[in-house]
Amino acid sequence: MKWILRKDIFPEKKTGINRLPNPVGKFFPTGFVFPACGNLPLFLNQPLLYFVINRFLTELISMHASKKDSAQAPLQLQAQAVIPTLWGNFNMIAFSADADDWMPHLALVHEKTDVNAPVVLRLHSECITGDLFGSKRCDCGEQLLKALEVIAENGGIILYLRQEGRGIGIINKLKAYNLQDRGMNTIDANLHLGLEVDARDYAIAVEILDILGIRQIRLLTNNPEKIVAFEHSDILVTERVPLIIAPHEENLDYLRTKQEAMGHLLKML
Ligand SMILES: [Zn+2]
Repeated sequence: MKWILRKDIFPEKKTGINRLPNPVGKFFPTGFVFPACGNLPLFLNQPLLYFVINRFLTELISMHASKKDSAQAPLQLQAQAVIPTLWGNFNMIAFSADADDWMPHLALVHEKTDVNAPVVLRLHSECITGDLFGSKRCDCGEQLLKALEVIAENGGIILYLRQEGRGIGIINKLKAYNLQDRGMNTIDANLHLGLEVDARDYAIAVEILDILGIRQIRLLTNNPEKIVAFEHSDILVTERVPLIIAPHEENLDYLRTKQEAMGHLLKML
């Protein structure tokens, strides 16, 4: 049986998992799950939902991922400059709501990019351990390098979104790594810390692409949720281009969890 967890059920938490304290003060998720073949939600009690999430959940669907939180100030193009790299020249454009923001989202537009054709696009959430230091715990750094190689050929854009650790930040990510070292998978570790499994918000990407005037994209991703993020937007995903990275010993369990519990399309495992 295929199960979908709809994130819009509890929009205040965005995950569809509403964490309530149980009698001993620990946090367990509760919420609705939807069988993929039907529309009727099932409300599951805490242990049962937790069991379903761990064993059967194949897709995380965010129904409103492309709708911006009206409380947030709109992003603005703050500055841009040409950055020559090993993969050619990119125009790096910084977007934030506040001009003093030290962590703006970045769009890197390759010099060969044709904005009138479907644009090769990599939505990349910041992973300082993987992107900068080459951590083998995940595949982020390798995916970024692969995306740069693809874009170097015929152009494209990297949106570098400041959503470290799937949106939980580097401090919580390091804490989650401690739990993973004690045997939890990446999902259990986040839940144990009272955090969302995936707190990333791809509405940011839609907003930036709107500002850049991009209407059609070829999305470089293995993550179906990133495709869903554009479903309610004006941006058409004309193609998903897989980013196949060979797993290695240190990230094999992590990649298995991404495939089996988060629906990532990693057929090589
Ligand atoms: Zn990573």
